[in-house]
Amino acid sequence: MLSTMQDVPLLISRILTHGSTIHGKSQVTTWTGEAEPHRRSFAEVGARAAQLAHALRDSCGVTDASAIGTLMWNNAEHVEAYLAIPSMGAVLHTLNLRLPAEQLIWIVNHAADRVVIVNGSLLPLLAPLLPHLPTLEHLVVSGPGDRSLLDDIDGGGPQIHEYEELIAGRPTTYDWPQLDERSAAAMCYTSGTTGDPKGVVYSHRSIYLHSMQVNMSESMALTDQDTTLVVVPQFHVNAWGLPHATFMSGVSMLMPDRFLQPAPLADMIERERPTHAAAVPTIWQGLLAEVTAHPRDLTSMRNVTIGGAACPPSLMEAYDKIGVRLCHAWGMTETSPLGTMSNPPAGLSAEEEWPYRITQGRFPAGVEARLAGSDGAFLPWDGVSAGELEVRGPWIAGAYFGGAGGEDFRPDDKFSPDGWLRTGDVGVISPDGYLTLTDRAKDVIKSGGEWISSQELENALMAHPEVAEAAVVAVPDTKWGERPLATVVLRPGATVDYAALKAFLATRIAKWQLPERWALVEAVPKTSVGKFDKKVIRRQYADGELDVTELR
Ligand code: AMP
Repeated sequence: MLSTMQDVPLLISRILTHGSTIHGKSQVTTWTGEAEPHRRSFAEVGARAAQLAHALRDSCGVTDASAIGTLMWNNAEHVEAYLAIPSMGAVLHTLNLRLPAEQLIWIVNHAADRVVIVNGSLLPLLAPLLPHLPTLEHLVVSGPGDRSLLDDIDGGGPQIHEYEELIAGRPTTYDWPQLDERSAAAMCYTSGTTGDPKGVVYSHRSIYLHSMQVNMSESMALTDQDTTLVVVPQFHVNAWGLPHATFMSGVSMLMPDRFLQPAPLADMIERERPTHAAAVPTIWQGLLAEVTAHPRDLTSMRNVTIGGAACPPSLMEAYDKIGVRLCHAWGMTETSPLGTMSNPPAGLSAEEEWPYRITQGRFPAGVEARLAGSDGAFLPWDGVSAGELEVRGPWIAGAYFGGAGGEDFRPDDKFSPDGWLRTGDVGVISPDGYLTLTDRAKDVIKSGGEWISSQELENALMAHPEVAEAAVVAVPDTKWGERPLATVVLRPGATVDYAALKAFLATRIAKWQLPERWALVEAVPKTSVGKFDKKVIRRQYADGELDVTELR
């Protein structure tokens, strides 16, 4: 029997229209580094998104599902692009501004971006790449920056436009097409530690459903009473879905633009008083150090989403002490990204909540999960059996993009034959569905046939009052195959005492898992989205660049 319900496609244009009318007074506030931030209402953003769509169609010839790149900070214009490009039937391609030049070139060419919208302040990055981007027909420049960097472009290069001039005077409404909800809306390439980056293409439907989940009380619980500080870059998995979710629920956005250092972040929180924020642990570590040295009031934030890498429990504790509650989330580019969030079950005391809060969290209805053991058999959710996490759901990728004009999909063994995503993350799931990750499969330390969790060692080390950051990697060992190497960043003024650190670890970690090799580093190397870059640490060790002390 067929249902009697209307089959209305789930489209981003619907999110745009809804947000800019029903929630027209909500705001996108962009930090400018000057006395006053820039404020634009959702109604204005909606009108300008329509103008942008007209401009892209009429002046840049975008009439199909071409990829349109954005090389931009988090700001109101980037939100306009987020809404306009998919709504008109094109595909938003967010470009990671921290990628090395060759990867950016590869990605723009792979997606065949026809237009790129760039912030003026990023022209020093983009201008030298232009001769290598043959598919690029139009470049739209927004905001302050040195335009003279584009002076040398020869006749064969893209046509240059000023964002504000391009959209000025265009109609403020657009007849958004009725697209297939399964068609491509946005794309994002994984930060790719090995091999070429892999493109994930989100559909209108997946983004729509993901946005609803983001707002649900078991996830970020956002309403039109909230303002969210979107620190997570718009090029990192659609800023974790926030620009769409906010338009759906009228949540105001506070956008840091290029002011991502701890001091301006602390200032903007104190002045604008957001109620929610989202960022990777590195940001929260930096902000904590900043407000410890120069106190600011962060207590407007009732709820902070922390994810993208494991949140050390000690960080959560430190924020609890200053009245800010961190909520741990797990996800991937391939999962849109919301996979889990660590809201505890209802009705528990603070003490009872703690063991739940330090997990990666539980799965929402839209994410099915299973754990695969090393022999391929699936493991029980008993909180003990550790295996590789596999997930499936309406906002989880089922394939990688094959490249413009070529194969539609690129085969990859990340996807099981029965259609699940193999996450590469290893962990356990409790009987009530809370996930605790112990490692990336490739970061697990295999010592004498037993596994050591690098993450557990890092969390324990970062609980030491003199340790600012710690990253643990596997290094080759003649006797055990692999053993852990601990690299440590000390807090200002602290002096290193490896024996004391090892003794501290021994109070929390089994003796056979304790690292023998230690190295002091100035900073843990980070990936383009601010996660520990263990590949670099392993290379530094192999090349003899670390000053390693052995404690047997
Ligand atoms: P990306 O696609 O670049 O965002 O990377 C996704 C990967 O980040 C996941 O597969 C995990 O390895 C890691 N990750 C994300 N969130 C967490 C978390 N809360 N705890 C531990 N690892 C995480």
